[in-house]
Amino acid sequence: MKRTKIVATIGPSTGTKEKLKKLIKTGMNVARINFSHGDHNSNGKLINYIKELREELELPIGIIADLQGPRIRTVVEEEIEVKKKETIFVSDVSVDEKLLKIEGKLFKLDWPKIISDIKVGNYILVEDGLIKMKVVSKEKKYLKAEVISGGVLKNHKGVNIPDIKLERGAFTKKDEEDLKFALSQDVDYIALSFVSNAKEIMNVKKKIEKIVKNKLKLPQIIAKIERKEAIKNIAEIIEASDAVMVARGDLGIEMDENRVVIYQKEIIAKCLRSAVPVIVATQMLNSMIENPLPTRAEVSDVSNAVIDHADAVMLSGETANGKYPVQAVKAMSDIISNTERSPFDDLEHGFLGDKKKSTSAAVANSAHELLKDTRAKAIVVASVSGFTAQMISRHRPECPIFVMTNNEKTHNQLSLVWGVQSFVLPDCETIDELIDISIKILKTKKKVNLKDKLVIVMGRPHVTKEHMSLVKVEEVD
Ligand code: PGA
Ligand code: MN
Repeated sequence: MKRTKIVATIGPSTGTKEKLKKLIKTGMNVARINFSHGDHNSNGKLINYIKELREELELPIGIIADLQGPRIRTVVEEEIEVKKKETIFVSDVSVDEKLLKIEGKLFKLDWPKIISDIKVGNYILVEDGLIKMKVVSKEKKYLKAEVISGGVLKNHKGVNIPDIKLERGAFTKKDEEDLKFALSQDVDYIALSFVSNAKEIMNVKKKIEKIVKNKLKLPQIIAKIERKEAIKNIAEIIEASDAVMVARGDLGIEMDENRVVIYQKEIIAKCLRSAVPVIVATQMLNSMIENPLPTRAEVSDVSNAVIDHADAVMLSGETANGKYPVQAVKAMSDIISNTERSPFDDLEHGFLGDKKKSTSAAVANSAHELLKDTRAKAIVVASVSGFTAQMISRHRPECPIFVMTNNEKTHNQLSLVWGVQSFVLPDCETIDELIDISIKILKTKKKVNLKDKLVIVMGRPHVTKEHMSLVKVEEVD
C-alpha cells in the first residue's frame, strides 16, 4: 500500500458520486474543494458526496475547504495591448476614471483602495506573470507603471504583487462567508491562501474557535506558502499551522521560479522536524488535463516529491477540470508506489536534525528504535488529537503505522499524514482494554496475523497532546 498521500481537487470533471468513488478507489486520500470556484450550493454538494462515500467505503477521507484569500484580479473593459517599455496607468475599482484626468492606457484592479498599499518599485504581474510591469510613480488614486514584458491585458485575470504588504490582511469578506459555510459543513481542514505570517493564522483560529466550541471537532489549518512574506516567516508559520502546502503555482510567480524546488525541499525538511504534515502542490501532472499520459518530467516531479519526504502530493486542474481525472490519480498512485519501493525515499540518518526535546518526541524516538530492534510487523499508535501519530510518521518507518483513535475528526484528518492507516475505536477504560480492542480491529480488517510482533505507542487517551506515556511490544494472539 502506498504511504505518500494524494490530495485531489474536486471540480466539474469529478462532481458526481460515481466519479468520486472511482477517485477514492484509485488512491485519493483527501478531497480539496477550491472555494475560488463554485458556490455554496455546488461546493456543499461535493462535500456531501465525500461524506457519504467515506461512510459507505469505511475509509477516512479528509475534506479541505481551500479559501480564496486576497486574490486580486484585473478589471479591463476592452482588452489592452501593452508593449515593453511603455508606461501605463493603474487604478482600482473604487476610482471613477473620468475624474482621474489622465491620458494613456489604464487598467484597474478589483481590490478597492489597493493603490495605497502598492509602493514605487513594486512589480505587478498579470496572468501567471505573463505580463510584468514595474511601478515608477504614484499619485493618490493611481500609479504609473513601466511595462517590462508586454502582452494583452484581459479582464478578470489573476494579479500578483509580490512585495506588497496587504494592510487589511489576507482574510477577505468572501473568505469570512466561505469559512462560516465550511464550518457548517464540518470540514476537516481549512486552507488559507496567500498567508504572510503566523498572526493571520492565529486570527483565523480564533474565529473558528468562536464558532466550533467542541475542541474535538476543530478543523485543522493548512497554510499555503505562496508569498515572499511567507517564505520569510516560514518558521513561525509552521509553528502556528497544523499543516503546510507548498503552493508552487503562485510561489513560482511571486518568487524566482528557479528557486521553487529549493523552497520545496527546505519547507518539507522544516515541516518534518516539527512533525507538521506537508503537501506539494500544483502542476504535478499538468499535461494530464489534456492527455491520458503524463510527461517524463511530470513523472519525475511526483517521484522527487516522494523522495523529498512530502506527506502528500496534490492534483489541481488534473482532477478538477481535466479530461482524465481518474487516470491522473492512477498515474500518481503508481509513481508513488514505485518510488517507495526504491531506497531513495528512505529517511537518511540526521534528516530530522536535532531531536525535538519533548516527552512525546522522546517516546516516538524510542518507539522507532524499538521497531528496528524487534523487527516488528507494524506500529500501533493510540492517538486522540493525531499528534502522537504525526510524531511517529515523521520518522517515516518502513512498517505500517496503524492509528487507533476515538475521534472521528482525527480519523479523517490523519488521511493527510504520511503512512498512516487509521481506525476508530470506542472509548476505553484501561490501557489493556485499548490494546485488546485495537488488535481485535486489526485482526478483523486482516491488517495483522497471529504471532505478529507489534510496537504499541500510547498517547494517554483523552489527555492533551503532549502526553504520550507508553511504548511496548506485543504479540498478536
Ligand atoms: P491555488 O493554490 O491552486 O489555490 O492557486 C495553489 C498554488 O498556488 O500553487
Ligand atoms: Mn495559489
